Amino acid sequence: MTLKIYNTLKRQKESFVPIDPNNIRIYACGPTVHNYAHIGNARPAVIFDLLTRVLRKIYGETNVTYTRNITDIDDKIIDAAKETGETITAITEKFARIYNDDMATLGVIPPNHQPRATEYIAPMVAMVQLLIDSGHAYATDGHVLFHVPSWPEYGQLSRRNRDDMIAGARVEVAPYKKDPADFVLWKPSTPDQPGWDSPWGRGRPGWHLECSAMNEALHGEHFDIHAGGEDLIFPHHENEIAQSVCAHGGKPYVNYWMHNGFLMVEGKKMSKSLGNFLLVHDLITEYPPEALRLVLLSAHYRQPIDFTKASIEQAIKTLDYYYTLLQEAKNIPAADITAPVMDALCDDLNTPQALVEMAALAKNRDMAGLKSAGALIGLLQQDPIRWHQRGSAADQDAIEKLVKQWQDARNAKDFSTADRLRDTLKTGYNVNVSVTKDGVYWRRDA
Ligand code: AMP
Ligand code: ZN
Repeated sequence: MTLKIYNTLKRQKESFVPIDPNNIRIYACGPTVHNYAHIGNARPAVIFDLLTRVLRKIYGETNVTYTRNITDIDDKIIDAAKETGETITAITEKFARIYNDDMATLGVIPPNHQPRATEYIAPMVAMVQLLIDSGHAYATDGHVLFHVPSWPEYGQLSRRNRDDMIAGARVEVAPYKKDPADFVLWKPSTPDQPGWDSPWGRGRPGWHLECSAMNEALHGEHFDIHAGGEDLIFPHHENEIAQSVCAHGGKPYVNYWMHNGFLMVEGKKMSKSLGNFLLVHDLITEYPPEALRLVLLSAHYRQPIDFTKASIEQAIKTLDYYYTLLQEAKNIPAADITAPVMDALCDDLNTPQALVEMAALAKNRDMAGLKSAGALIGLLQQDPIRWHQRGSAADQDAIEKLVKQWQDARNAKDFSTADRLRDTLKTGYNVNVSVTKDGVYWRRDA
C-alpha cells in the first residue's frame, strides 16, 4: 500500500516515502487558545487526524508520532486577558481544555504530543542565538529579526516573488528592520505583558519560531510531514522553513507539506462583520457530532468546503441509514478494511471517494466492510441504539418521561392517552416508539 500525498512544496502528488518507517513524524499547527474553536478550525484537526490514522494503518500503530501544538502566547491572548480581566493562564488553560474536549467529541484522537509554546522558551532562545551567530538574524531595539536576504532560497514553499511577499505579510515598515521582508523572531514585552528574560532583554517569541523550536525538540531537525490550513503557507510555514534550515546548517527541514482548504458557512466566509462564526462547542450540542465529522470529510481536504445546515441534515440521514443496517445485522464479524476504501484514502486522502465506497458496501449489505471502514475513518463506532436515541440531554429526559408515560398508559389500557403521548413524541421530538420482543424501544428519526 502506497500513500500518495499532495506536497505543497512540489505542487504535485507524490508517493510518501518515510525517512524512517519505524518513526514517522507528523506535525500540524494547532490552535491559538484565546477563544472557542470554530468549525473551520476543526477541519485541519479532523483531516490530519485521518492522515495519522491512515499512516498508522500502513506503518503500525506505534510507528507514527503525531504532534499538534497549542499556541498559548500570542497578542490575541493578551488582548483577551485585557478584555475579560482573566489571567492569561486562566484563559489558555480553559480554551485548551475546551478545544481538546470538543475535538475528542468529533472523534479526533489525541495527538502523541501537545506542546505548549510557553514550555519551550529555552529552545526558542537557543535557536534565535544560533541564527544570530550564523549571520541570519540580528538584534535591534529589543527585537531580533530574521534577515530574509541572508538566505537566497527563501520563498520556495509559497513561490511568491519579493513584492508579493512583502504585501502578503502585511509587514510594517519598522525603522529597526534592515529589509521590509525581515520577520520577528523575538520581540520586547512591556512590564504588563508576559515575557521571559533573554540576551536581548525581557520579551517573547514570534509565532513562527514556536513551531520550529518545538519540532526540533520533539521531532528532530528533519522530519516527514508538516500540515496546517492553507492560510499558513505564507508567511508562517515559509518562515518556519527559513528558521529551521538556517539554524541547522542548511539541513532540510520537512519532506512533505500538506495544507487543507478553507471552510465557508452557507457560501460565505466566516467573519466578525457577518457574525457567522459557528463554534464547535455550540454545534456539538445541536447536532450529532458524528454527523459534523462526516460533513467535514465529505469534501476533498484541499478543496474549499461549504458547511451548510443542509449538509448536516444529509449527513444525519446517511448515518441513520447505516446505523439502521448495522442494528439489523446484529452480529458483525471483525474484518479488515476493504481495498477500495483503503485505495481511496491512500490517494491523497480522497474522502469523497472513500465515502462512495462505503455507500457501496452498505448497498451490498457488507456490514463487516462498512464497520471496518468506519473504524478507520472515525465513523459508525457507536451502539446503533445510542445513535437512534441521540438527543440533547434536556430532550433525552423529556423523551424518556414521555416514553414511560406512554408505556404506563398502554399498560392501563388507556389507549387514547397512549395515542396522544405517541403523537407528542412524534411531533415534538421526531421520536417513534414501539414495543419489540426486547421491550419498549424508541428511536429518533433523521
Ligand atoms: P488559528 O487558531 O486561527 O491559528 O487556526 C488553527 C488552524 O485552523 C490553522 O491550521 C488554520 O489554518 C485553520 N483554519 C482557520 N480558519 C479556517 C477555515 N475557515 N477553514 C479551514 N481551516 C481554518
Ligand atoms: Zn505552526
